[in-house]
Amino acid sequence: MTDPGRGPAASSTGRRILLLVGSVGAGKGTQAAALSRELGLVHLASGNLFRQALRDGTSLGERARAYMQRGDLVPDEITIEMFMEELSRPAAVGGAILDGFPRTVAQAQALDATLARRGERIERVISIEVPVEELVARVAGRRVCPVCGTAYHLVAEPPRVPGRCDLDGAELQQRDDDRPEVVRARLAKQVMPMLEVLEHYDRAGIVTRVDGTLPIQVVTRAILDGLRGDS
Ligand code: AMP
Repeated sequence: MTDPGRGPAASSTGRRILLLVGSVGAGKGTQAAALSRELGLVHLASGNLFRQALRDGTSLGERARAYMQRGDLVPDEITIEMFMEELSRPAAVGGAILDGFPRTVAQAQALDATLARRGERIERVISIEVPVEELVARVAGRRVCPVCGTAYHLVAEPPRVPGRCDLDGAELQQRDDDRPEVVRARLAKQVMPMLEVLEHYDRAGIVTRVDGTLPIQVVTRAILDGLRGDS
């Protein structure tokens, strides 16, 4: 088994590679954006990268297409190749926040091994933890404008006029996969592999757990505090 590496030291290349872990609705996207600004790291989210590759019609997108359309995981070798390519870009020279990858222990081991060959490793894994029912409630409150794509939340970010987009007045919609029963099913599928990935990195003592039910800025602060000892 690949050892993810011990100790707080970052990669020998000097750049920071962080991993953000959390279920759908835990606030990973929000925290990744804040951390990326604070720390000057590029945010690499697997789902977004795959969707972009599909839109751009790249060969990677074509190889991933059938799996994504079925809702299956894209094979590890394609996923790892994509991340390695992203990590080689100038934008990632200062480091990166990985999000959505690795999703399984097999991916974590493959990533550790690939990074190790380059003298690098994951510096810290940040797990944003939120109870399941709170996640369901958060995701179920999401609404999007079908015309301009603006996202709202019934509680956290309501539109000025209930049910209508602030920008164009269109009737807001709920995405099919944001419905409570669909969210519960997605969460059930995500949880086991995610716990196994955390366990894998726990063995190296590099996991920081933060309470994702706290206000956004408090969560960001907790993450930054957790990282401070490492820099
Ligand atoms: P997401 O937006 O994170 O739900 O990802 C959308 C789709 O991208 C997934 O259904 C998979 O097909 C693919 N994908 C995202 N992350 C990974 C990963 N770590 N490994 C394999 N496939 C992935």
